Amino acid sequence: MISLDDFASDKLTALEATGLRRTLQVTHRLANGQSLRGDRELISFCCNDYLGLSHHENVISAAEAALGKYGAGSGASRLITGNHPLIDELEGRLARLKGTEDACVFSSGYLTNIGVIPTFIGEEDIIFADELSHACLRAGSDLSRAKIHYFRHNDMAHLDALLRLHRASHPHAMILTDGIFSMDGDLAPLDELAQFAADHDCWLMTDDAHGIGVVGGGRGSGFEFDPVPVIPLQMGTLSKAIGSFGGYVCASRPVIDLIKTRARSLIFTTSLPPASAAAALSALDIIENEPEYCALPLKKAALFCARLNLPAPTSPIVPIIVGDSRRVMDCAAKLEEQGFLVTGIRPPTVAEGTARLRFTFSATHRDTGILKLADAVRGLDILP
Ligand SMILES: *Cc1c(COP(=O)(O)O)cnc(C)c1O
Repeated sequence: MISLDDFASDKLTALEATGLRRTLQVTHRLANGQSLRGDRELISFCCNDYLGLSHHENVISAAEAALGKYGAGSGASRLITGNHPLIDELEGRLARLKGTEDACVFSSGYLTNIGVIPTFIGEEDIIFADELSHACLRAGSDLSRAKIHYFRHNDMAHLDALLRLHRASHPHAMILTDGIFSMDGDLAPLDELAQFAADHDCWLMTDDAHGIGVVGGGRGSGFEFDPVPVIPLQMGTLSKAIGSFGGYVCASRPVIDLIKTRARSLIFTTSLPPASAAAALSALDIIENEPEYCALPLKKAALFCARLNLPAPTSPIVPIIVGDSRRVMDCAAKLEEQGFLVTGIRPPTVAEGTARLRFTFSATHRDTGILKLADAVRGLDILP
């Protein structure tokens, strides 16, 4: 017999040895992209709050007002307690931003993906997913119990080959991809993916967690293309550029109606607190009305890349691949000593041998801080 404690300790020792043990650090996130760890103020380059909206005064007052009026929690699932009017309003606004008939708000992006995919895809069906798709697209795919084929990252020839080989033997099929890839920052070829989906009778679903608010004029990755490709399922999160909490999917009315009837992670979990919906609504006002502000994170990333002679970025996410997990943690520690908070990203978040520093840029970063960061990164001797 092995005790639960011994089991956990043995696992942790093995993870520690390969630089893969993870720990939580108490950190206060301040306004203006700064973070407080212990008594040290650091400039954070690892946060997804791309527009600084989690600390925007309008967003905070909208949340405070909702908190006072409606209370802290939401009481139960949306289908039990009744649908909060703020969530109803938020769904209308998200649908308008994406140009779809309707939307459904979930309690997180993760819950959205694990609820939506199995609503449409079952055991007999097939999924084609980019190999760098986010963990929760994978989790949703696994839950559907369908056959899953991963195509090489953004490799349309590989997708084409897989479609020709496997599509015909299954009744329904989905193609899944991130719009902006979370750990690489690049954009999926959504125009080509939409064409493949049409040609092979597949439903295309995009995860735009890192697109909304920062690319496509703030409307997300699909709007980087002209014409805007047909994407029947567009999901995203309210927790990154929108600065609040929650997830959503935008689609046609019948598709949303089926999700509201069948998605288990909507039905069997407590709904988003009203204050989070109010904060998201206020953030959407800013995103809809201030496209120049939405363009700032990418401009900041471009400044960093230009300083280091890296290729121009397509999103505010800039990875520098280091390879070894222990080395990447060592680089992150060195940057922290110099006043920069940059988290090392290791397997299994990224593939074995591709541990990296992942820099994310925010509209609130000052150019001087970015240039100092670039100089510190040059000192690490990790540039390609
Ligand atoms: C963060 C993220 C999610 C999950 O969203 P949450 O609202 O944080 O649960 C989903 N997909 C991608 C690509 C993400 O980066």
